Amino acid sequence: MTQLPAFGQLPAAQGIARQKKVLRAAGLVLAAGLLLTGLLGWNVWRNARTALEQQFALAANERVDRVRERLVLQRSELESIQRFFENSNEVSRQEFEHFVSPLLGDALGYAWLPRVEHNARAAFEEQVQASGLLDYLIHDLDSQSHPVPAQVRERYFPVLYGASEYLQELPLGLDLSSTLPGRELTQRVLTGRQLTASMPVILPGAPAEDAAGVLLAAPFYRGSVMTSPGEESLGGLQGMLVAAISYRLLIEQGMDVDSLAQLAISLRDSAEQGADLPMYRSVVRAAQNSGLVMERHLDFAGRDYLVRIEPSRDFLQRNEGHPQLWVLLGGLLTSLLLAGYVLALLGQRQRALQLVEERTAELRANQLELQENQARLHFAMDSAGHGVWDWNIDLGKVFYSHAWKAMLGFRDAEVGASPDECTRRVHPDDQAARCEALQRHLRGETSLYQSEHRLRCKSGRWLWVLDRGQVVERRSDGSARRMIGTQTDISSRKAVELELGEVNSRLHGLLDAATQVAIVSTDLRGFVRSFNVGAERLFGYSAREVLGRPVPESIFVKEEIRRRAHELSTVLGREIRGFEVVGALVGEGHEEHEWTCIRRDGQKLKINLIITGVRDSSGVMTGYLGIATDITRRKEAELELRRLSVTDALTGVHNRRYFKEQLELSMARCSRSGEPLSLVMFDVDHFKSINDRFGHEAGDVVLVTLCQRVALRLRKTDVFCRLGGEELVVLCPGSSLEQAMQLAEALWQALRSQPMEGVGVVTASFGVAGWRIGETADDLMCKVDRAVYRAKRQGRDRLERADD
Ligand code: GH3
Ligand code: MG
Ligand code: MG
Repeated sequence: MTQLPAFGQLPAAQGIARQKKVLRAAGLVLAAGLLLTGLLGWNVWRNARTALEQQFALAANERVDRVRERLVLQRSELESIQRFFENSNEVSRQEFEHFVSPLLGDALGYAWLPRVEHNARAAFEEQVQASGLLDYLIHDLDSQSHPVPAQVRERYFPVLYGASEYLQELPLGLDLSSTLPGRELTQRVLTGRQLTASMPVILPGAPAEDAAGVLLAAPFYRGSVMTSPGEESLGGLQGMLVAAISYRLLIEQGMDVDSLAQLAISLRDSAEQGADLPMYRSVVRAAQNSGLVMERHLDFAGRDYLVRIEPSRDFLQRNEGHPQLWVLLGGLLTSLLLAGYVLALLGQRQRALQLVEERTAELRANQLELQENQARLHFAMDSAGHGVWDWNIDLGKVFYSHAWKAMLGFRDAEVGASPDECTRRVHPDDQAARCEALQRHLRGETSLYQSEHRLRCKSGRWLWVLDRGQVVERRSDGSARRMIGTQTDISSRKAVELELGEVNSRLHGLLDAATQVAIVSTDLRGFVRSFNVGAERLFGYSAREVLGRPVPESIFVKEEIRRRAHELSTVLGREIRGFEVVGALVGEGHEEHEWTCIRRDGQKLKINLIITGVRDSSGVMTGYLGIATDITRRKEAELELRRLSVTDALTGVHNRRYFKEQLELSMARCSRSGEPLSLVMFDVDHFKSINDRFGHEAGDVVLVTLCQRVALRLRKTDVFCRLGGEELVVLCPGSSLEQAMQLAEALWQALRSQPMEGVGVVTASFGVAGWRIGETADDLMCKVDRAVYRAKRQGRDRLERADD
């Protein structure tokens, strides 16, 4: 046994080494898979990034081109107005509006600003006012943007007329030179004599979101201009045509919301170095850290605009698919699966090898243990007095242990190894049963072979043995190959059993001889163990019907059992149910109780049942023994005696004794319950003379008839008694004095209203009394007696109520 751990340790150490190898292989596969996945993911990410950059460049270029086109368009529209002026002699307000109205929409508005020299200012204002614009004045704007008369300047370019869809009101009369951008613009137009854009301005009168913009001015000359460009010249200058352009409208007008949401745009004037704020910035913001931006310079009427375009989050979401994530995820999963597969494959082989080694070691250990156990078992069996036999069926040999041989009185050498050594010693009477038990086990019908039989000892005497065994090896077809068993000397137990059997049969004989007494024994649940002849006769059931079954419920009267159970539950303070009712009070002694029992044929019997507890040798109760005797006759005689002792022989009503008993009982009951109690007593009038006139027998008939008439009118609870002679009383429990008076009245009338045959009308004198708590029976009787006496005295045939 000490070698056993070594068998376990060796494969365990090898197993750990193999496991490490398997894990290393799986780790390598995983690492290679992850590396490949990383490379592939990086490549896919680069391709996707290039595609995104191209997409952005395309969209941004398209947008820059659009802005450029819009700037060119603005320019060409103003030039077309300029040409319109050049080709017309004079342009009226209506002509102007007519011409520019199709152009509105791209620009906020167009206006005509004539040149007015200072000395012609007043005449000009008057002329305009005379044409209908009464408030017209050449003006500037103060710090609150209110119009104030224009400062004195060499010349003015006031707004004379114009057209706009966006501006709420045209700033008529406002001088272009009144603001810094206007002055600068005027200067540059006069110098350049061509179409010129102003620095960024806030357009007066425009909605807030469209107010940031630029003024585009074109000079209008009439006649030839000799001066070279770059030199300020006023020759032929008639005025200026000005377009007000909103940056927002310029960039966003005509674009759908979806396109606007793709790119973030800002527009700056490059000359405005100091200004941090761009002239225009789209509502859509640029996505953070996209790394994508495009900047372009656009020339617009002498100004250099810088357009900056960045992608919005929306743009990135649409065009950035992150395919590399899917590649990475797919690659990771594939690597894990591959590593898992390698792990499972190699692990399975490793486990199989380990299993083989473990099983081999286990088998070796088991074999050793088995040998040791077998030796130990033989030793233990022998020491415990069991003879061991080990039957090798293939070889046809049996090993008999030393103890087995000694049990039969043989020395080791005297018994061989043949199965016959045992078989031939079996008692002829026991051969068949033993053989049958052995064959059934060999066929596999029983899990254990067991037989009790006699063996002949060396001395010739018979020894009872308990032979037990089991097949421990079977062939592939199921037939037995080896069987092991023990034989134990049970001669002393057999002797006790024989003796017990004799005692038992004697006892049964004795019980059955007692034919007048029913003797029944049961276990604690009420299952019948014995049922003697007396019981068969008393209850009408045969022993065969009831043995091993519960005592038939129909023997007992249910109501009686229920009442008794309630009674016992109250006494014992716990719930008593079922069969327990019969033996609940047995305890250490016995219980005696009278029961009504129902025979099998339905006849009711009164029995006296004595129950005793049956105990085993250690004093523990194991069942009940019941002895029942038929007491039906005795009970009936007792009842008859009782009935006679309380009945009046002549009239059949109760007698004085019964009346006294009932009066005491009723008084006790009513004093507990608080119910009233009354007495009606009456005495036949002149009864003596009835006897005298019609004879004593006629007097008897009168008494009987009178009692019948009275009884008819009583309630069930009323107790009617003859106190003696012709004196009668009715005890009325539950009746008040008034109710008793009514009853007495009815009885009185019943008597006097109908004559008796051959005698005529018989009357009586009635006294009625009510009982009061505290009064004795004698008190009550005296009261009612006095009332009857008063009735007699006052002329008879009447009722009197007793005084309290
Ligand atoms: P009163 O109206 O005062 O009661 O007069 P009474 O004659 O009825 O009373 P009394 O006590 O003087 O007589 C009662 C009689 O009843 C006397 C007795 O002979 C008679 N008597 C007693 N018991 C019986 C009986 O059982 N049968 C018959 N026939 N007469 C009986
Ligand atoms: Mg009388
Ligand atoms: Mg009387």
